[in-house]
Amino acid sequence: MENSSPMEMHCDACRKILPHEYLSSLASGSEVWQCTVCGLREPRSTKRRNSVAPEPIITKEVQSNSNPDITYLLTKDTSGWRCDCPGYRYRGKCTHSKEATDND
Ligand SMILES: [Zn+2]
Ligand SMILES: [Zn+2]
Repeated sequence: MENSSPMEMHCDACRKILPHEYLSSLASGSEVWQCTVCGLREPRSTKRRNSVAPEPIITKEVQSNSNPDITYLLTKDTSGWRCDCPGYRYRGKCTHSKEATDND
């Protein structure tokens, strides 16, 4: 991913937004940019969206109310708790997911 076109960013030396030229990327994942006005070289940590760790997925097992031999798996993701019981699949909610939400 070479980007040689100057990019507007804040220069710590000039204390204003100025075009910077891309020099190189560091092993740490930062990129070095050089101010086109004063020549100051500044490493910038680039925030790569896809390097953000996904939210850990939490799972919980719950027993069926009617049959203790049956367990359902509750899974928490960004939108909340999901359950794999028939009630949840049918209605999109169930006592298990509600309980898990209440206990959060
Ligand atoms: Zn500068
Ligand atoms: Zn359920």
